Amino acid sequence: MPVAYLDHAASAPLRAEVVAAMAPFSAGLYANPSGSHRLARQARQALEEARDEVASSLGCRPGEVVFTSGGTESVNLAVLGSLLARRAAGRRGGVVVRSAVEHPAVVESCAAAASRGDAEECRVAPVDARGAVDLDAMAALLGPEVSLVSVMAANNEVGTIEPLHEIAQLVRRHAPEAVLHTDAVQAAAALDLAELAAGFDLVSVSAHKLGGPKGVGALVVREGVAVAPLLHGGGQERERRSGTNDVVGAVGLAAALRAVGGSVGGSGRAEESARLRASRDRLADGLVDRVPGLTETVPRSSTLPGHLHVTVEGVEREELLVLLDDAGVCASAGASCASGALEPSHVLAAMGVEPRRAAGALRLTLGHTTTAEDVDRALEVVPAAVARLRKSDPVGA
Ligand code: PLP
Repeated sequence: MPVAYLDHAASAPLRAEVVAAMAPFSAGLYANPSGSHRLARQARQALEEARDEVASSLGCRPGEVVFTSGGTESVNLAVLGSLLARRAAGRRGGVVVRSAVEHPAVVESCAAAASRGDAEECRVAPVDARGAVDLDAMAALLGPEVSLVSVMAANNEVGTIEPLHEIAQLVRRHAPEAVLHTDAVQAAAALDLAELAAGFDLVSVSAHKLGGPKGVGALVVREGVAVAPLLHGGGQERERRSGTNDVVGAVGLAAALRAVGGSVGGSGRAEESARLRASRDRLADGLVDRVPGLTETVPRSSTLPGHLHVTVEGVEREELLVLLDDAGVCASAGASCASGALEPSHVLAAMGVEPRRAAGALRLTLGHTTTAEDVDRALEVVPAAVARLRKSDPVGA
C-alpha cells in the first residue's frame, strides 16, 4: 500500500544530501574533536566547518553557535541558562514572559524556572483566534522587571507565524533588561531566520524538522548575552555546553540548513515554499469541498506554507487518525506526548477553539518529500474516513 507521509512537522525524512554529507563521518572519521592528533584535528575541522555553515544560515557569527542535542535542549539552555547566568551575576531572577501557544519545551522550562525560584513569576501572553500573540496584551505584561521573553517563530500545531519583528520592538521598548528568545524549531524549514530572528538574543533550531538527523540542534547565543551551562564537564562549546561533540550530527544539521536554502544568497527556500503552498492549498480546497463540517483553523496567509490544521465536526481525532493510518495516510492531531497519546491542546484552547471542535483536530503537514500523489491520496482517504466515522456514529455527527 502506498503511504502518504503528511507529518513533516513531527519529523521530516532524512534528505539524501544530508546522508551524503554525514557518510564520511559516520564511517571513518571517529576521533574526538577535542583531541590534538591528526584524526582529532580532522574531526575538529569538520565540526568548525559545520559551525561556520550553521552560522551563515542563521545570520550569526560562528562563535555564537552552541550545538545541542536537539530543540528541547536548545530551549532549556536558552530559558534556564539565561536565568541562571543572571542569578550567578547576583541579580534576582526577574519575571519570565512567554506566549500561550509555546511548545512544551518552553512551557515546562519556564514552569521549572518559576518553581525552582530561578524566576519570580511566569506571565503568559494571550493570542488571537489565529494563534498570533496579541501585541497590546503582551505590552501590558512587559516592564523593567522582565528578565526573559520567549515567543516561538511559528507554531507546531496550527502553523501560525508569529510577528517576531513587532515583538522584538515591543520588548526592547518596554522591557529593556529582557533577554529575548525565539523557538524557531518549526520555522527554520520555511523561513529565513537570518532575517526573521535578527532582533533576538537567543534562537533555537533542531535538525530533524529540516530533513537532518534526530538528536542534534543548536542555540544561537548572540555576543554579549550570558548563558550559564546546564551540562557541566569538559567545557566544550566555549563553556556553554559540555560533552564530546556529535560531529556527524553537526555536519548533518549544517547540511540540512544548507538544503532548506538557509545559506546566504540561496533561492531554494522561496521555490520550495511556493511548491508547498500550492500543494497545501490544493489539499485544503479539496478537503473543504469534500468534507462537510471541515473548517480550516487558521487563515492560510498566517501559516507556514506546508502546514494545514483543520477541525472536523462530529469526529474524534483519535478515531480519525487510526482510520487514516489504516489507509496509508500518516497525519497527526497536533501535540502528542511521549507515549504517543493525545493530550488536550493548550494551543487550540488559547485560540478560543471550543473543546467540542478541538476534539476533531487534524494536522496535515507537507515537506520536501511530499508529492502530488500524497495529496491525491489524502484527498481520497480523509473524506472516506470521515464518512465512515459519521456513519458509525450518526448521533454524534
Ligand atoms: N519546539 C518546537 C516548536 C517543536 O515543534 C519541537 C518538536 O516538536 C521542539 C521544540 C523540540 O525539538 P526536539 O524534538 O528537537 O527536541
